[in-house]
Parts: sequence; C-alpha cells; structure tokens
Amino acid sequence: MKSYIIGTAGHVDHGKTTLIKALTGVDTDRLKEEKERGISIELGFASLPLPSGAKAGVVDVPGHEKFVRQMLAGIGGIDLVLLVIAADEGVMPQTTEHLEIIDLLQIPRGIIVLTKVDLVEQDWCELVKLEVAEALKGTVLAQAEIIEVSATSRVGLDYLLSRIDEELTQLSGKADLGPCRLPIDRSFSVPGFGTVVTGTMYHGNLQVGDPVVIEPGEIKSRVRSMQVHGNKVEQGFAGQRVAINLPNVELNDIPRGATLLSPGFLNPSQILDLSLILLDSAEMPLVQRQRVRFHIGTKEVFGRIHLLDREEIEPGAKVYAQILLEEPVVAARKDRFIIRLYSPARTIAGGVIIDVGNRKCKRYSEQSVAQMVIKERGTPEDLISEQLLKGFVPQTTTELGLTTGLNIPELEQALVKLGEQVDSYIIEGQAYWFHNESLLPLRSELTRLIDQYQKKHNLRPGVLKEEIKSRLFTNWNSKTYSGLLKYLHDNRIIEVSGNYIKLPGFKAEPQGTLQLIASQVITEFKAAKLSPPDWESLMNKYQIDQTLREELLQYFLHTEILVKVTGNLYFSFEALEEAKKTIAQLLKEKSEFIASEAKDRLNTSRKYLIPLLEYFDSQKITRRIGEKRVTF
Ligand code: GDP
Ligand code: MG
Repeated sequence: MKSYIIGTAGHVDHGKTTLIKALTGVDTDRLKEEKERGISIELGFASLPLPSGAKAGVVDVPGHEKFVRQMLAGIGGIDLVLLVIAADEGVMPQTTEHLEIIDLLQIPRGIIVLTKVDLVEQDWCELVKLEVAEALKGTVLAQAEIIEVSATSRVGLDYLLSRIDEELTQLSGKADLGPCRLPIDRSFSVPGFGTVVTGTMYHGNLQVGDPVVIEPGEIKSRVRSMQVHGNKVEQGFAGQRVAINLPNVELNDIPRGATLLSPGFLNPSQILDLSLILLDSAEMPLVQRQRVRFHIGTKEVFGRIHLLDREEIEPGAKVYAQILLEEPVVAARKDRFIIRLYSPARTIAGGVIIDVGNRKCKRYSEQSVAQMVIKERGTPEDLISEQLLKGFVPQTTTELGLTTGLNIPELEQALVKLGEQVDSYIIEGQAYWFHNESLLPLRSELTRLIDQYQKKHNLRPGVLKEEIKSRLFTNWNSKTYSGLLKYLHDNRIIEVSGNYIKLPGFKAEPQGTLQLIASQVITEFKAAKLSPPDWESLMNKYQIDQTLREELLQYFLHTEILVKVTGNLYFSFEALEEAKKTIAQLLKEKSEFIASEAKDRLNTSRKYLIPLLEYFDSQKITRRIGEKRVTF
C-alpha cells in the first residue's frame, strides 16, 4: 500500500493546525505537548486516510523557524504541499517566504488552501484569490488550484480531500530500492529502550537487522526495531516517516542534522558545487566569502560562499558557485538546498547541488565554470537514468536521443556503461530501454497481486490481462503494457498465455473437499460417455452453491477436462475424442452418412446426437449437405 507525505506551509495563525485537525481529527499542537511529556514519538504528524484507500500523513510545522528545516528534511519525502492562506488576511510575509522556499526546492505538487472563508464576504474572497494568483505567478505552484475552505464550518473540506487524493495517486513511485539515506530530524532516548532516531527516508529501504552508519561521525549501529506511522514494521521505504531504535549509540554522540545511511552509500563532505539562485527578495547582493546559513536535509551549517567568476551575485541571478562549509554534511548530486542570511536568518537563496567532495575551485578560470556546466548537465549515463527513472517509461534509442540530446554513438556507449542498471525488451524489432529501478517496484506489485488472486481463485487459469491493467496500470498505453508483460514473461517472472497471466508453477486445482467432489464429477462424466449428466442436477446432488459451481465449470472447461458442445451440454474430453474417432472411421467406410447411422455407431440418444453432429460441423470435422454429412 502506497503512503504519501503532505507538508503544510503558510503564515502563522492562518489555520494550518486547525485545518489538519479538521481533516484528520488529530490535534498536532497537542501532540507536541505529548511529545514533551514523552508520550508521542511522532512530532506534529497526523494520518490522513484518503477516499481512494491510499494513506497519507500530514506534517504540521510548529512555528515559522522550523519551517525551512522541516521542508528540507521532507523534500525527499514531501509529495504534496498545502499552502494555507487565511482569507481574512491574504498573502502575508511568511506566505511569501514559504512560497519562495517551495519554489527553490521545486516541490512540484501543491494546493493553495484559502481557509477561514467563513470570516469574509465572497467579494473579498475573490479579491484575495486574485492577490494569491499574482503571488504564485512564475513559481513552481503557478498552476496550483486555489480551494476555499473553512475548517470551522467544514465548507470545502470534502472537495479538498478529493483533490489531495487525485494529486497523490497520480504520482509515480519513489526510489525505494537500494541503500538507505535518512536525514535525522529528531533523536531521543526512551528509558529501557535506548536511542531512537526519526526522519523521512529520502532513498532506498531499510530492514530490521540492517547495519547502518550515522554521518558525520561514522557512528556504526544496526536497526534493532522500526516504526512507520506509529506501527512496528520489518521494513521501511523511501517516502515513509520512520522511527528507528539503534543499540549502542549514545544520544549525545549524534550531531544535530546528521544522516543515517547504509554503510558505504554516501560520505560527508565540506565543499559542495552549487547551481544557485539569489532571490529577488534578497534585496542585497551575495558577496564572495560571505558567511551564510546553509540548509540541507535536516542540517543547518555555516559556510562561506565561494564565487567562481565574480565578486558578488545580484538579486535574481542564477550562478555556479561553491560553498565551503564549517562542518561536513551528507549531500548528493541533485539535492536541493537553501541559503539564509547569517543575521537576521532570512531565506535569500537556494538551488541544486551539482557535485560533492571536490576541492576549492580556482577563481576566474574559464575551465572551472565550464566544468560546472558539464556537471550540472550530468554525464550521458546521468541523463539517460534521469529520463528512464521518471517512472516505467521505456524509450527507443531514437526517443532517448530526443529526450537527452545525446547522439546515437554517445547513447550506445552510455547504455553499455549503465550495464545491468538498464534493460530492454523488443517489440516489432525495436528495442525499448527502461531502468531496472523503475521496473522492480512494478514487478513486486504485480507478482503480489497475481499471487493474491491465485490464492483466492485457485480454479481460474490466472488473472485476466485486462483486470491487471485496470488495477495497476490504468493510465498506461497498451503498447507499454504488452512490452512489460512480454519482458516479464520472457524472463520467467510471470507466464502469459492467451488473455491470462499467472505465476510460473501455478496450476489451477480444486482444494480440500472440492478436490474429492471434482474427481467424482469427472468419473461420472467419463462413465456416462456420450450420454453425459446434466450439470445443474449433478451440482445439486453434490450440494455445490451457485458461485462455486460456476467456478468449477469454468475450471473443467479451461483445463479441457470437459468440453462445451452447446448451451449447457458438456462432454468429457475422452468421450468426445472417442466420438471423433468413430466418426472418422465412419467416413472412411462411407463417403457420406445420415444421422441415424451415426446414432448407432456412437451409441447415444437423439437428445445428444444432434448437438454432437452440429458440434462436429462447427469443428470442421464434418460438413452437412441436406440430410447427409460428408468429410469437411
Ligand atoms: P496555524 O498557526 O497556522 O497552525 O493556525 P491555527 O490552526 O493555530 O489557527 C489560528 C487561529 O485561527 C485559531 O484561533 C483558529 O481557531 C482560527 N481558525 C483556523 N481556521 C479557521 C477557520 O476556518 N475559520 C475560523 N473562523 N477560524 C479559524
Ligand atoms: Mg500551528
């Protein structure tokens, strides 16, 4: 089951906490007190069940100061942001700052919740909406919907919920395979239990027993136990908020803003290469060697800006730069960061990390800038992975050429370098490339679904292709779907036969007492030869209920134990084969025959004879000419 994380943003007192309470029933302010008294592990976190059945958790940020940290900590995990604006006040300073941060972090999905509409006239509301639309212009949320609600009178809440649901269920999966990366947002000690850390998993997954390391500091431990949304789990995945109990770790040893990692995944570094945007609202230039607050993941660290080709950055400009940090941090290419002024701590810049762990760049060197350009763009392998990790979106080399801007020899070389990370299937002579990381979640979901289905419907030949498509791959085009099935079939992950999909080794079979009844039914049909029993009467005799008798019949038919001749008339396969031989013999002896001749040979009554002969006609064994039949 997918779970999503929703973040809230907005000016103080605009109604974030009240909205969450109205949606989830959870008072996150109270959770905070409970936490302080050591009752609740999870801080400001409320579960939100969605109409579609998907689960989401809402993170409420207590106070403005924590917002930046919370937002950054959540980027790997925040799927949707709710920007809450009170209709009576409209856009306020923190609204603007949060919006700027959302924009710098490029959080792509958001809904603007215009709350407290019960306090204002509709005219006023319309004006505020215009003001909000103006503020959103040119930001990542420019297209976001503005929804009017009142948490107190519950106006618009159902609609808001349905839109949250729609936005979330459109998302593709996260990178929940491979090594774990979890920026720690809280660590505490539970008496008799030891050290617990919590955070949103950015990348990969973690299992109870797995070794882990906390960086910076190289503190080694392992996962003793784990909770997701308050429930004990064996495994946690990217996108989930998890709490992890770590043996042999002293609380005081864990630095603020540290990261929990699978050993060997990422190393902390002190010099980061950046692509940076200075906000228009910064008002003042950012100068060479200026000391700033640098935020990444859950970490805030001081550092100095190192500019490559200028002495200062003008507001609104986008440049390449380095940051020389006063302490090491765990960072990776593509991570988003925020820069705030040393004092007052106001957000002024942000952007994306394009490389880590390099030396300080030489200033005013053309080469330094040129290298940054290449790093930002990425290697051919990066570019291909980026395209292919947008979901399961297989592309031909021609398509990859268009989306990555690489030429065919470059592509071919990069695909070889990517090795087992990528794979392809062939349709109509064309290879379609995909990333294995995008396949694996689909593959496990698919096999799980088939397995469940097979257990529930053990008499059926498998699951209908269409059923799986409508359950898991609704919006897929049929070409990609058949490609996926073909690939999985060729690699023996599933077996596709006709319209059905099953897991290798699965055989439809009656279980338990039904097995006994089924074999008696078969015996009766075989013994009756060409005067078979009536299906319904037989089922009544064995007291098989309506649904089950239909399942059983379909089982006999798809396994060809019974053959449907017409309407509800079924013969055993053996009896029918015998009859075919008899007719063939008859046709060998005489070039034509009439019904009564066949009746004597087949030794059956007229009731079955006519349907049988018509069946043979339809099977192109015989051909009817008037009263007679000849070889087809
Ligand atoms: P937060 O700081 O954004 O979390 O704001 P709160 O949720 O604590 O709300 C601030 C104040 O606004 C509280 O007194 C709420 O009762 C009030 N409030 C919140 N939502 C509504 C609403 O929809 N209508 C009205 N009339 N008051 C609201
Ligand atoms: Mg609040």
